[in-house]
Amino acid sequence: MDRDNTLWVGNARAGGLSRYEPSTDTFTNYWHDPDIPDSIMFSSLETVLEYDDMLLLGTANGLDTFNKTTGKATHLFHAFGAKDSLEGRSVRMLFQDTAGTLWVGTRTSGVYRYRRHGRTFERMALDEKIALLDVSSMLEDRQRHLWFGTANGLVRLNTVSGDVFNYYESDGLAGNNHYRNAAWIDQQGILYFGSIGGVTRIDPTKLKKPSDSAKVVINGFRINNQEVAINDGKSPLKVSIAKTEQLALNHHHSMVTFEFTLLSFNSSDKNEFAYTLEGFDEGWNEVGTQNNATYTNIDPGDYVFKVRAKNSRGVWGQGHTSLAVRVSPPPWATGWAYAFYTLLVLLLVGWWVKYEKKKLELEQEKSINTELLRLDKVKDSFLSCTSHELRTPLMGIVGIAEMMMEERHQRDEGLQDNLALIASSGRRLSNLINDILDYAKMVDGSLEIMQAPTNLGELIDLVFYLLGPLAEPKNIKCIKTLDEHCHYAYADEARVQQILLNLIGNAIKYSDGGQIKVVVEPADDAFIQITVEDTGIGIAPSEHSSIFESFRQVTHLTQDSVTGDNVTRDNGGGTGLGLSITKQLIELHQGAIWLESALGEGSKFIFTLPLLANDSAAHTHSYPTAHHEDSHIQSGAPSDNNGQPARATILIVDDHPVNRVFVGRTLNDEGYNVIECDNGLCAIEKVKSAKQKIDLIISDVSMPKMGGYQMCAELRPDYDFLDLPIIFLSANKTDETLHQCMDVGGNDYLEKPVSKTELLMKVSFYLKLSAYVKQRA
Ligand code: ADP
Repeated sequence: MDRDNTLWVGNARAGGLSRYEPSTDTFTNYWHDPDIPDSIMFSSLETVLEYDDMLLLGTANGLDTFNKTTGKATHLFHAFGAKDSLEGRSVRMLFQDTAGTLWVGTRTSGVYRYRRHGRTFERMALDEKIALLDVSSMLEDRQRHLWFGTANGLVRLNTVSGDVFNYYESDGLAGNNHYRNAAWIDQQGILYFGSIGGVTRIDPTKLKKPSDSAKVVINGFRINNQEVAINDGKSPLKVSIAKTEQLALNHHHSMVTFEFTLLSFNSSDKNEFAYTLEGFDEGWNEVGTQNNATYTNIDPGDYVFKVRAKNSRGVWGQGHTSLAVRVSPPPWATGWAYAFYTLLVLLLVGWWVKYEKKKLELEQEKSINTELLRLDKVKDSFLSCTSHELRTPLMGIVGIAEMMMEERHQRDEGLQDNLALIASSGRRLSNLINDILDYAKMVDGSLEIMQAPTNLGELIDLVFYLLGPLAEPKNIKCIKTLDEHCHYAYADEARVQQILLNLIGNAIKYSDGGQIKVVVEPADDAFIQITVEDTGIGIAPSEHSSIFESFRQVTHLTQDSVTGDNVTRDNGGGTGLGLSITKQLIELHQGAIWLESALGEGSKFIFTLPLLANDSAAHTHSYPTAHHEDSHIQSGAPSDNNGQPARATILIVDDHPVNRVFVGRTLNDEGYNVIECDNGLCAIEKVKSAKQKIDLIISDVSMPKMGGYQMCAELRPDYDFLDLPIIFLSANKTDETLHQCMDVGGNDYLEKPVSKTELLMKVSFYLKLSAYVKQRA
């Protein structure tokens, strides 16, 4: 019935289209006539729909529009198979929805939407299996969904989103195979579909989801094949895996397994699954009925695990279930860690640059230091070589000056004074050279001592004697007090003499009269304490701690006798080395030195030396000087020639004529016979020629042709050291040369510049000793 209340009937089986004429109660029929082009296309009609002011005729051979007034048909859609046209010829259903859209259901090619403006047909994306089935009915529900009855279930189409859901008998339909046009929607919007199995009543508002879209549920989760407990502290699951929306994993979770199942009334073990881990897999993994997915070693990052299922009828579900998965990096691969590494690398690079710079600086410093040390050594060796070279000529000058002073016929006072000046300047220079040599040894640690029993009383007397010329003009009284248990120290005799010379020399230098007292007393069971006390100018306490440092000199002020002003006192040309060498020498003996003094109250230098355990062992080294308990020194040489063989003959061997002259005259003056040689060979000849008996030899060490040591070694087999005492002279007195001297059989050693007194003392001593032994033999 059209809107003009005209009844139209479409007849199947070649019956054509009929219009009922109520006035005559007859039908006007329209058939297909091959000779008339605008007759209807096919006489067997499937469906008729009023469309605007026309009729649409669906036939088994195509779709016609039919003009109700003229009775002429237009074959609307000839181009079957062309783009945007109907593919199947057999139009089974025509339906216009509430929005006015025309829907065309075909027998074999699904459902089309007609777009009026473009006059095109759009094929709806239905499931292939359904789409190919005969569309037997169409309805629109209140939610504007279209429903199609088919030979295999119902199809619901969301005309806006294009979502399609299929419903089957398994979802509760009365039957799958629906009858043509057996579909109805009632006033309440309830749908009715007739099928071979009966009528299905559907309330779209209460409709459950169809089974094909039944939910796949992730219902199990294992890590390293172990079931994961919920919320046990370490577990990544806070709630069950099914309710988990985001799963947080870390690098310890190297193998994870998801288990899943299909929630459906008709689910069975024939359900098949497909899953994917977005971000890890390239596409879906179709794994058949396997209901789990295992992943190993997933890199840190964000992923989505998706799973979908195919039901037992082989239909894939409409959607999928998904689970967000985040794999956090291990602590050492986090952003913070990388920031830390970067910082570390920067720090290391910074440190390395600094280290290299420092290394370079150190290397430069080291090479400068090495160069400085080398230069220092060069300087030291230059100093000591030069000093050695200076000593020999100096000895000559001092010796000759002394000798000329001693000459009996020399009575010119002016000359005497000048000679005394030369001698004392020479001695000062010689002491300075000795100090410089000792300082050089002290610096390189080669200062050594040779300890032997040392008679302290005699040594003090000798020093008093040597310093007499300095003390006498100042009227200084020198006093020695010796405890009877302290005659001998176990010390290096020459070095103790040097210590005493320094301390007593200073005491004289810094006193203007008064007295100098040397007290020797026991310090304890093992040490002797020697005090050198003067009544001189004294030393301020502030200077005490530094006075033993090298090159340290105190500035003493004194009153000018004429003007009465304060002037700086002359320190006698000292270098400030004496006390530091003295301290070092005492410490080499395991002793100590200290000072008690105050300005204007004199000074007391106190030092200790090891005590010789058994005094009697010491007599071999005693000097033939008189022993005084409280003695005052006398100036002048001890002229002790009594009791000796008359005019003993002494051979002087030295390549320097100056030295031969000095020593020779000194001995001559004392009444000795002197003969001379300038090398060792000559000396041996002289001794062996037996023209004249030689009683003693005084020899230099190094000489051309033959040196002193070789000469001594060659003589010793025939002349032992009491028969023929040999005394060596050398500018270079070291422990080594002393050893060499003793090794070749020398009796003694005198250091250049030779002190006249010492020379005479030693000569006298050895001659007496040799005479004494001969007497007793
Ligand atoms: P120097 O060669 O200058 O005498 P020393 O090392 O022997 O060097 O002495 C260092 C300084 O100590 C001297 O310059 C002097 O000022 C002071 N000194 C040493 N002994 C005495 C003393 N008995 N009385 C006063 N001052 C002294």
